[in-house]
Amino acid sequence: MDVKEAKEAEEVKGANKVKEANEVKEALKIEKRCYQCNKKLKMINFTCRCEHKFCIIHQNPHNHNCSYDSKANLQLKLKIENPQTIHQKLVKI
Ligand SMILES: [Zn+2]
Ligand SMILES: [Zn+2]
Repeated sequence: MDVKEAKEAEEVKGANKVKEANEVKEALKIEKRCYQCNKKLKMINFTCRCEHKFCIIHQNPHNHNCSYDSKANLQLKLKIENPQTIHQKLVKI
């Protein structure tokens, strides 16, 4: 067994471990992603009461199946998905 070779291999292993850890840290720091659509979030992002981050589209609890306060969420969903509301919007345009 070549002692020098074994030592080198261990050093490479250690270096890779440190590099990986740093990469994970960086990724967590920079890349915030929407919990719903996995879209990259830059300056604009929203943290919901369910403690997940979301883009503008999914910031509302009813847009990401929010696990927080599901009763109120259901009522809101019924309101939002009311066909009359959609119809009014279409007429306006
Ligand atoms: Zn999203
Ligand atoms: Zn939520």
